[in-house]
This record gives sequence, structure tokens and C-alpha cells, in this order.
Amino acid sequence: MQEYSENDPRLESIKNLLSMLEASGKKYDIDKVKTSYLYAADLHEGQFRASGEPYIIHPICVAEIVAALGLDTDSVCAAFLHDTVEDCSDKTNIETIEKKFGPDVATLVEGLTKMVDINIVDKEEAQMENIRKMLLAMSKDIRVIFIKLCDRLHNMRTLDAKPEAKRRTTALETMHVYAPLAHRLGMQRMKQELENLALRYLDPIGYAEVTKHIEEKYGQNRDFIDNVRHRVAEELDKNNIKYTLEGRVKTVYSIYRKMYNQSKEFDEIYDFYALRIIVETELECYTALGIVHEMYKSVPGRFKDYISTPKPNMYQSLHTTVIGRQGIPFEVQIRTREMHHVAEYGIAAHWKYKSGAQSKEDIDRKLEWVSKLVDSESENIDPDDFMHSLKIDIFHDETFVFTPKGDVIALPQGSTLIDFAYAIHSAVGNKMVGAKINGMISPIDKCPQNGEIVEIITSASSKGPSRDWMKIVRTGEARSKIRQWFKREKRAENIVIGRSDIDREIAKIAKKTTEAQRTEIITNVAHRVGMNTADDLCNIIGYGGMMVSKIVPKLKDEVERVVKPEEEPPKVIEAEDVKTVSSPVKGKSGGVIVDGQHGCAVKFAKCCNPLPGDSIIGFITKGYGVSIHKRDCPNVVNGMKTDEFFHRWIRAEWDMADIKQSGNNNLFEAMVHVFVDDNIGIIAGVSTALAEMRVSILQINTTKRPNGDNIISLKFACKDTSHLESVISKLRSVPHFKNIVRG
Ligand code: MN
Repeated sequence: MQEYSENDPRLESIKNLLSMLEASGKKYDIDKVKTSYLYAADLHEGQFRASGEPYIIHPICVAEIVAALGLDTDSVCAAFLHDTVEDCSDKTNIETIEKKFGPDVATLVEGLTKMVDINIVDKEEAQMENIRKMLLAMSKDIRVIFIKLCDRLHNMRTLDAKPEAKRRTTALETMHVYAPLAHRLGMQRMKQELENLALRYLDPIGYAEVTKHIEEKYGQNRDFIDNVRHRVAEELDKNNIKYTLEGRVKTVYSIYRKMYNQSKEFDEIYDFYALRIIVETELECYTALGIVHEMYKSVPGRFKDYISTPKPNMYQSLHTTVIGRQGIPFEVQIRTREMHHVAEYGIAAHWKYKSGAQSKEDIDRKLEWVSKLVDSESENIDPDDFMHSLKIDIFHDETFVFTPKGDVIALPQGSTLIDFAYAIHSAVGNKMVGAKINGMISPIDKCPQNGEIVEIITSASSKGPSRDWMKIVRTGEARSKIRQWFKREKRAENIVIGRSDIDREIAKIAKKTTEAQRTEIITNVAHRVGMNTADDLCNIIGYGGMMVSKIVPKLKDEVERVVKPEEEPPKVIEAEDVKTVSSPVKGKSGGVIVDGQHGCAVKFAKCCNPLPGDSIIGFITKGYGVSIHKRDCPNVVNGMKTDEFFHRWIRAEWDMADIKQSGNNNLFEAMVHVFVDDNIGIIAGVSTALAEMRVSILQINTTKRPNGDNIISLKFACKDTSHLESVISKLRSVPHFKNIVRG
């Protein structure tokens, strides 16, 4: 892909970077690095930084910091290109960069371009945490955060050139957002430099004061420090340990924080002095510790073994505090070179890069990292919180969106603008009439993306949320707030909607029901679910407080109970469950001889209403005597098919003598269904006909059939089958008569 000349004089500017890459011992695609640099240099040609130097100096410096972290070729290329899409939009774009440098570089540059500069002045700590999470979430690839931190570090190093106001906001952002991110990623060196630089701009006087104290202290005690180093070195040499010693390890910011947060005088800072011993092996760490403890008195309770128990951000080291000559305490940190590297660079030292799709193992490995990342000892960080924030990075399950005021709202992935509105306040959601994303009008069911600015348009004349919103929203919070609104504002409408939903369910169960039957069914179901009226039930279904599917089984029960059996498909009833009526005959046999015996307790089945003259059969019930059916009753025909009850059917016959003796006062119940093709005046016609025959009507019902016919169901007092026959022939003469059957 070499598109440049090796003699291009501009390559001189990245000589330092190239030698760093070479010295790293890692494999870098040097052609790609050079090409991306020259492309960025072309794009930034003619642009200058606030300091007056050519703009390209900044990307070069960022690339050097990236290389020092040990990041890969694509990260170095992205560092060169990180400002091109935003600052040179007339000359390039993400697509072009993808074509030239591949999808990985393009993703990194895109992530860096999207990463907004946030105005965090006057934000509360909770907001800061959301912003940190958002940055993690926005950088789908953790390398984006690494490069962003390098970019920020260089901007901080050169902040002097910016105007005062800008310096302050940039420093605040660095202190509250970027330094904590670096800390969480275990990048101690990055974190410390960011903090020190930020402090310089946020409290120049305090910074100068602490710096002066440190210089003085070291100046005054140069002997002390030198002496300690010298003596420790001597002992290590005696034990044949290869080592590196570092003397000045406390940062300005760490001392500043102790002084101001814990209100301590500079002289009270306990562990101001520190000596770091870097050795080769873990065993040597413990050997060195033994040597130090032999040389100096150790301070009880100050020994910490982070080698056997690493900090969650992977930090490993031995810490101890000892008392030196003149009673001056100092801390000693002992670790291997490898541990030291991790301590300085954190995740960046270990992060593995892999092109292509993530395998399951990759994700497992990342999760393992996550569990190590949580530094429970660090200040004010809820470990669960951080676990969560890194999971976002891996599983992308949360979206962070700005309000126009710059607050960050966290929403589950897939949330819509409606969810956003309700997340701000239910009053905002209820009055919502539209929304804008980044200033552009947008449909309210749209899902905003990380980092977008969302504005909700409300109107006092809004009629409130739409019922459809409940199907659109993603969050339970929005759904319940919408439901609340409907519950409160729209009872009448809810009842109508709920009623039609329930009616539809009833229609699925029974084809034909009357309005009155449906009301009865719904009222019964309402009582069964603990509500007072049918309207209450319709209301809760209407506003979505209960799913209609939840009451379907009860609806089925009640439909069965309320709707007439002839509406039902034929169904086998257990003979012994058949409803019965007592014999009207008070004679010695009750009107029936069962298996040759007089005087059995008998009842007449209501399914077939047997009359004297009908061929009959008995069924021995459990404890209720013998129930008498017509021999051709469907329940008898079906019931006798089952072996289980076969032995309980028993011969029965009318005791005509007994019936005659009881006289005409004792009448049986007869049931007929009269089919007519119009029901106008029909009940009057039927009752007149029966009155003429001096037959008393016990019950009369009408039912409309799907084909438009009407059925008059008639129960009346009847002597026997011949009496029934005469009534039936009389009924054949009523107007609109079509047919008649016995019930
Ligand atoms: Mn930059």
C-alpha cells in the first residue's frame, strides 16, 4: 500500500515515533503508519493550533503517547486521523477512511469523532458517573477510550495556549471524567499525570504551594533519601537481587488531596516519602521485603500484600511503611517489572486485539477482566456500578442520551423518545407532542443513540398520551406512567374499550349471546376477581392494568353458566350429575316402580323431563335416590356406553295406579322448545294458547338463533305424554310457527 515517497521530508517529524515502534519489539505495519500520518498531514495542512504551531503536531504527539502505551498499528493510525473527520469534513469522511485504512481504523476514528466534549461545569457527582458510563458505552471498542485519554493528555500538556475559561472547563472535565476513567482502567501513570495537570489549572496556588513544599522537603532531606536508597541498594546487592529503585513516587495531586480532603498540614502527611523497589521475580519481592523489615522498624498495620491478593484493577505490589533515621516514616513498594508495567498502563498493557467477530471466549475473557477491574478500595466508586458500566461496553444494553441542558439520561437499549420523555418527568411525557434529535424533528417512536441530544416538544393543549404508546415504549416506568394517566383521566373511555375487548373474548367462546347475558357474565367475573361492578373490570382492562387474557378462563366458566345450554354443542353429562326434580306424586311409590319395588326415593331428571307414558330408566345416585330419565335421553344413551356406571342403571316403570290415585293435582314438569321465524307477539300467542287449555306456565324464555329464528323455551305443568301431545298440537297453531321439540 506504499503511496508515499521515503524521501518525503514530513516523515522526519515521526522519526521519534517510528523508532519507538521499532524498539517495542512488537510487529507494526510501518507502511500503514506512515501512510496514515501523511494522509492526516495533507488534511490538516494549513491548520494551526491555539499555540500557533502546525496542527499536525498534535496528532503526532497523540500517536506517540498511544505507541508508548503499547497499542497496535490501527490505534496509532487512528491517533493520526482522530481529528480529521471533524476538522476537515470538506476533505474526508468515515467511508473514505474505511476504504483507505480498513474497518477497524474507521470504527476507532468514528468513535473518537462522536465522543463529544461535555460541559460538566456545575454537574452533580451522579451526572459525572453517567457521563463516564456514557463514554465507555460510546466507545464500542475500548481502544477508543485509550486513544481518547492520550488525546486528552496531550491537550492537557498544551492547555496553556487556550483562553482562561476554556482551560478551566477542560481541566474540570479531566479531573472528574477522564482521570477516573484512567484509574478504572488501571492506567496509573495516565491518571496521575491527568490529575496533576488538571490541578495546576483548577487550583494554581494550591498546586504551587504543594510543589514548593515537596521541593523544600526533598531539598532539606536529600541526605535522608540518598541514605535510604544507598543502604537498601547495598543490602539488595549482598543478596544478589537485580533491582531498580525509584525515590520520588508521590504525586503533587495525591499529597494535595490528603492535605485538603483530610485537612492535614503538609508535615502531617504520613507517607510523603516512598521508595519503590522493582525486582525480577515474585520470590525476590518477598526477599526484598524481608531485607527492608530487617533494616527498619515497620509500622504496624501498614503492610499490604497485593501480590497474593491483587486489587481488582489488577494492581499487584507489596506495600509497607517503615521508620527511618530521625524517626521519619516512609513507604516502600515492592513489585516485579511485569507488575510495574501493569500498574502503570493497566488494561492497555494487556488488551488483546483481534479482528473480526468476537468469539464467545473473547467475551468470557473480557468478563474476567471486568471482575478484576472493580477497585473496591478506590474512592466513591460503587463496584456494582462499575461492573455495570463495563457490561454496557460488552453487551450494549444501555443508551445514554443528553437533555438540552446537558444532563445525561440513561435508558435501556431500544428505548424510544417516549421513554426518554417519561424518564424526565411524567408531566413531560403526558404533554409530549413531538421530539427533536440533535435539533431535527424526529418520530416519537424512534430510538435515540448514545450521545445524542434529545429535546421533547410539549404542548399545554396536548390531549395526553395515546394508548398505542404502551405498545411502543420499552421501559416499565413509561408504561406504568401512561397507564396511570389513563386510569386517572379516561374512565368512561376505558370502560368502553375494556368492554369491547371482553365482548370480543366472549364471542370467541359462545357465538351468540345477548347484551344482558354478557353483562351478567362480566359482572360475575368482576366479583370473582374482587371488583364491585362490571364497569370496574372493563375500566382496568381498558387502561391496560390487567390483560384480558388473564380473565379468559373465568369468562369461559361464566359463559357456560349463563348462556342457554342449547347454544352449546351437545355434551355428555354424567348421568349422576343431572339435575333432578322431586316427584309430584305423593303416593306410596312416588309414581315409579324401580326394579319391581314400590316406594323408592325417586327424582326426575331435568335433562329430559320424563312424563308418565314415556319409556323410562333409573340411575342409582350416591345418596339422592334414583333419578328417572327417559329411555332415549342422550345422557342415558351416552352414559350406558361407559362400563364404569353400567351396573348403576336400573329398570324403572310408571306406577300408573299410584299416579291415577293421586289425582290431577300432582303434575309433572314438561319442557318444549317452540321454533318460530319471528318473535313479534309470540309470547302473548303462546301464553294465550296455554291459558285456553288451562295449562300453567312454570317458565318461559326466548333465545335468538344465528339464523334469525327465535326459540321459545317453555316449561309447564303436565299430567302425562298424552296431555303433552295435546299441548304440542295446540302450540302448532301459534303465528310464525316452524317447529317444536321436547326438551
Ligand atoms: Mn485531538
